[in-house]
Amino acid sequence: MAKGPAPAAPAGEPDAVVIGGGVVGGAMALGLARSGARVAILDEGDDAFRASRGNFALVWVQSKGLGMPEYALWSRRSADDWGTLADLLRTESGIDVAHSQPGGFMLCLSESELQRRAEALHRLHNQPAMAGFSHEVLDHAETKRRLPAIGKDVVGALYSPHDGHVNSLKLFRALREACLRRGVDYRPNHGVDAIEPAGGGFAIRGPWGEMRSARVVLCAGLGNARLAPMVGLDAPVRPSKGQIIVTEKTAPFLDHPMATLRQTDEGGVMIGDSQEDRGFDTSVSQPVLSVMAERAVRMFPRLAGLNVVRTWSALRVMSPDGFPIYDQSFAHPGAFVVTCHSGVTLAANHVLTLAPALLAGRLPEAVSRFSARRFHVQASA
Ligand SMILES: Cc1cc2nc3c(=O)[nH]c(=O)nc-3n(C[C@H](O)[C@H](O)[C@H](O)COP(=O)(O)OP(=O)(O)OC[C@H]3O[C@@H](n4cnc5c(N)ncnc54)[C@H](O)[C@@H]3O)c2cc1C
Repeated sequence: MAKGPAPAAPAGEPDAVVIGGGVVGGAMALGLARSGARVAILDEGDDAFRASRGNFALVWVQSKGLGMPEYALWSRRSADDWGTLADLLRTESGIDVAHSQPGGFMLCLSESELQRRAEALHRLHNQPAMAGFSHEVLDHAETKRRLPAIGKDVVGALYSPHDGHVNSLKLFRALREACLRRGVDYRPNHGVDAIEPAGGGFAIRGPWGEMRSARVVLCAGLGNARLAPMVGLDAPVRPSKGQIIVTEKTAPFLDHPMATLRQTDEGGVMIGDSQEDRGFDTSVSQPVLSVMAERAVRMFPRLAGLNVVRTWSALRVMSPDGFPIYDQSFAHPGAFVVTCHSGVTLAANHVLTLAPALLAGRLPEAVSRFSARRFHVQASA
């Protein structure tokens, strides 16, 4: 059941409460506020798990959606709309998030890796509705022509013109600033312990007290797994650890993002491609960092001369099949869950498409495949 446009909320009560102030919650709150809603964000404190603080900042389309072409289309749509979002953020926050879409490369260090990745991309593009997606498989010489700094170990690359990147810390700040300027009531140290359907809306509670609203939007990342069942939703997300290395700043040498390596607008090089299933462990580990660094130096030998200035790890928000979960509760309409592992890529969709639809009471058709019901259908099939 879909819920129609919300009646005017009682004075002092927000039209929508967003739980979680990461990149997903920030984008949803901004989109809701731009659509005319009074919005509050309830967020945990600074010691919380926040995937948004540790991300790699790709706006990535290539390789997304094998097994679910709707995800490829959704990612592509967001990448195409990212320029609009960047302009909007500049106007609404005064912050340039350094977005660019120069096309992205996946560099391969062996023939078998290139073949495996090329076949996967081929299968992805052979799915229905994938017309209009383009990619190229490049040999060493052509990759070298386009990226002169590569090393001799790079046997080739996949290239997609749809890929880009941003400055993720600036994105985070811009979302927060734009929300504040739109009057969003951001409340840190407001962890939510309980949500109770009450009087056609929701009573949201924590040690800080209670807030009521006709709509609640769960954007709590890994916290969604616990919160969703309170309102008849399901968000079986789990942590997937990623580690990242950042080098000192250096003169620009890389105009394009790679899947595992990018030079930021400020000059540092970010290296990061690990995926580990280690629960809520956020330690950094030397063996994993060493492999990442060794591969990066083979890709771009000049990196060997740069100092590492930071390493960190953060937890991705991963659903069982890796695709987003967007749902409205059947039992308690007005309660929504919005969660994904690529909240930077999908930020344009969240601000421009998903939030306005959600305020109107109905998730857009383009996301109907992302309901968590798919896990139960598969389980009972
Ligand atoms: C290593 C790494 C690399 C990544 N690279 C990319 C990339 O290149 N491109 C891309 O698009 N995405 C990338 N991501 C993912 C992206 O950064 C987003 O963070 C991700 O989509 C999830 O965002 P989120 O806002 O849902 O979760 P989070 O950032 O985890 O935010 C959730 C928020 O909810 C709060 N919260 C949780 N429980 C409660 C509660 N009970 N009450 C109140 N608040 C609560 C938390 O405190 C937190 O602030 C990467 C992530 C990682 C870890």
